[in-house]
Amino acid sequence: MLCMTSTLPEAAAPEVRAAVAQLPAYVAGKSAQSDLTAALASNESHFTPLPSVITAISAEAGRIHRYPSMGAVEAREAIARHFGVSPDEVAAGPGSSGVLQQIISAVCGHCDEVVYAWRSFEAYPILVAVAGAVSVPVPLLADEHHDLAAMAAAITERTRLVILCSPNNPTGVSISPDALEEFLKSVPPRVLVVLDEAYIEFQRGPGVDSMNFYRRHPNLCILRTFSKAYGLAGLRIGYAIARPDIAEGLRRTAVPFGVNRMAQAATVASLAAGDEILERTEAVAQERERVIQALRGYGWDVPDSQANFYWLRASDELRMQLLDALAQADILARGYAVDGVRITLADASTNDRVLAVLADRRRFAAL
Ligand SMILES: *Cc1c(COP(=O)(O)O)cnc(C)c1O
Repeated sequence: MLCMTSTLPEAAAPEVRAAVAQLPAYVAGKSAQSDLTAALASNESHFTPLPSVITAISAEAGRIHRYPSMGAVEAREAIARHFGVSPDEVAAGPGSSGVLQQIISAVCGHCDEVVYAWRSFEAYPILVAVAGAVSVPVPLLADEHHDLAAMAAAITERTRLVILCSPNNPTGVSISPDALEEFLKSVPPRVLVVLDEAYIEFQRGPGVDSMNFYRRHPNLCILRTFSKAYGLAGLRIGYAIARPDIAEGLRRTAVPFGVNRMAQAATVASLAAGDEILERTEAVAQERERVIQALRGYGWDVPDSQANFYWLRASDELRMQLLDALAQADILARGYAVDGVRITLADASTNDRVLAVLADRRRFAAL
């Protein structure tokens, strides 16, 4: 891939860098315009915030005339206790997208390469380009898994960072422990590997025990968020767990006071409400099983999802048909050009509305 060099300034007015001017805009999932609309386009939690979390946020609201702690100390200490690591190994930011931006600016210089699977989280190409680094996207396999052998082969002397997304957004497929182990063996120790686990709390069955991997692999960085399972998307807090020198680098590249007081208070309260969060992720996992089985029964080819959404690979024609049919039923899903449609799981009756639209597979074009 080409790395753009800046041209001499001949313009009469200020211009944004070419790499920025050419960026695709982050396409946010549409939000609901009415109470009848099912907003299934952004993988948000359909549960309203826990009462204990609202209480913690409200108490903190009376103190927002003061800056939060520099370096999100309260949140980092709670996260460190939760995982049995030192606060030195934790960095927080405004959502895990914010933390990922800190990671890229901490480890990537101009024209350094970042390898990730594609299709995956759409923030990756944007954050890489903003940092002046170069994306090396590696196509997913036909079964929607990361092509880890091809990703390892894509590593060059310029590679500083590899991003793995498990469960992957938007396909829902996760990486197996064996596959991760083998991949990490083939990565040079100087390359930082970020494991983006935005949906890990929804994983059931034999998944990667990422803290165990973290302890054994010094170049592994775990990236997580409170936006999805914890239902704090509107509050903006995510975190990374990494070796102290890396975590320190992430704190240095952070926007000062980027994690606000209410987000920190909500983090502490959320980590204390583990049983309630587990009940919620359990409900989502059960609905996931039910909905995917039903869809397969209707003739849809749905990959196994370990997240709070599922994926229908689709041509552009099928994607348009699907989004139209869902919109007619007041359901917002997320379409991706060329690739397909992602639908967020919600409560049983909302999921049933989706199933009713998709029940007759013959209404729709072939893949
Ligand atoms: C939603 C998501 C994130 C994080 O979102 P934030 O709200 O910024 O924490 C990170 N990675 C993936 C793959 C996601 O889908």
